[in-house]
Amino acid sequence: MSLSARITIPATKRVVEIPTGLFINNEFVPSADSSEVIDAINPATEEKICSVVAGSEKDIDIAVAAARKAFNTTWGKNVTGFERSRLLNKLADLIERDQELLGEIETLNNGKPLKIARDFDISDSVQCLRYFAGWADKILGQTIEVDNKTKLGFTRPEPIGVCGQIIPWNYPINMWSWKVAPALACGCTIVMKPSEVTPLTALMLSKLVAEAGFPPGVLNTVNSLGPIGGAALSAHKNVDKVAFTGSTLTGRKIMEAAAKSNLKKVSLELGGKSPHLVFESADLDQAANWVCLGVLYNSGQDCTAGSRLYVQDSIYDKFTALLVAKVKELVIGDGFDEKSGGGPLVSKAQYDRVWGYIESGKSEGAELALGGQKRAGKGYYVDPTIFTNITSDMRIVKEEIFGPVLSVGRFKTEEEAISLANDTTYGLGAGLHSSDANQCMRVSSALEAGTVWVNHYNVVNNNIPFGGKKQSGIGRELGMNALEEYTSIKAVHWNFGDKCEWPL
Ligand code: ADP
Repeated sequence: MSLSARITIPATKRVVEIPTGLFINNEFVPSADSSEVIDAINPATEEKICSVVAGSEKDIDIAVAAARKAFNTTWGKNVTGFERSRLLNKLADLIERDQELLGEIETLNNGKPLKIARDFDISDSVQCLRYFAGWADKILGQTIEVDNKTKLGFTRPEPIGVCGQIIPWNYPINMWSWKVAPALACGCTIVMKPSEVTPLTALMLSKLVAEAGFPPGVLNTVNSLGPIGGAALSAHKNVDKVAFTGSTLTGRKIMEAAAKSNLKKVSLELGGKSPHLVFESADLDQAANWVCLGVLYNSGQDCTAGSRLYVQDSIYDKFTALLVAKVKELVIGDGFDEKSGGGPLVSKAQYDRVWGYIESGKSEGAELALGGQKRAGKGYYVDPTIFTNITSDMRIVKEEIFGPVLSVGRFKTEEEAISLANDTTYGLGAGLHSSDANQCMRVSSALEAGTVWVNHYNVVNNNIPFGGKKQSGIGRELGMNALEEYTSIKAVHWNFGDKCEWPL
């Protein structure tokens, strides 16, 4: 097949040449042994945008070999932090230059509103690259006193090596940046496997990696089906680390493959069923806005989606009425329409999955306060749906839905709120709203989650670590903690005076 596709973006009439090959050694290439393709679909119209090369296990092998060679020759310990920083900053500038174009392709393939892809996802990605560019020349070890007259210990954080990075479809550019920026800042090389649902923007970003001047093989991109390319990367004996964002089910398989192959380091950012608590002292208007953002941002396709809301009894009726009114204000429509605050779900599979949950909510006896009706016509649209009268054994309360579906329950006391919030196998995000500072401190401490938002929700910052507890994952992305995921500490014991007596 051709290694590029010329497409016209219907809404803007922009003509774009999209690379469609595998990106290995800074070139777009065909598969070594497969003629399989992946179709990129526009979820707003259900039409095919174009097809890209689907990589095989052999292609993963070739990409890993390219990454290994670069690690041993032009990258890894062969390049200064200053140079890594310069190149990352250059890449950030190029992404910023192409922000509108990248935003349009992201919207076309993912469905999210252009204003969100462009102004939030891509702006944040540019900032992420710049943030980690800032760390590249500040990766510090320690000197450790042993015996001032004879011995000194010191540590060197060294790049861990070749990293397999497996990313999801909900924030294709953002998740790419969260993975690529710290890995390259630390001196690692990469084989990236984007989601087969959204394969396009990673290819466009790869082109910018070459334009920025990164040496061949530093970053390679292999679009492939998860059970083929993702599984091959996780089980590869020449990969030193795998970083993954996606479902808990797939995360489990990746960890198992890592354990059974070479015990590579694994970081996992997995699912969630995040609780959102509203106490009676809260600013109700603001709390309702954050609750809406928490569950409806990105049409609920968000691992931290605040999909379980618990409201204190004394304000329950007032707050739910306010919430329903606010949710109704959101316009869900085509991502290229400026009025849209939310787009369609990403794929038919996701659409069917979310409807399966909505039907289960109805059949298990939850009450529909809003939504729950299918739209006619094309596009994988799901309108915001709110269930009340829930019980803790319902599937909509226990399982991650990854759609705009909120379950609302009630509590009487702070203890009850904490116990309901923590009654989950997940631990990614949690939110609480209260005007009582002592309560905020007590509850934020008691919530079992990697991130707790106080009078706030769903906003992440590149300089604050992000990750999960319980079955929501292992390791941290963003912030200085992310550097630990891509470095391995070498301890050097330096003797300048101690004599070895022999025999013992
Ligand atoms: P979803 O089911 O919503 O697509 P996944 O967690 O399966 O979520 O997908 C996230 C990423 O994991 C994608 O890039 C996908 O290709 C990849 N993936 C899926 N299955 C596997 C697997 N068995 N091993 C490794 N990666 C996989």
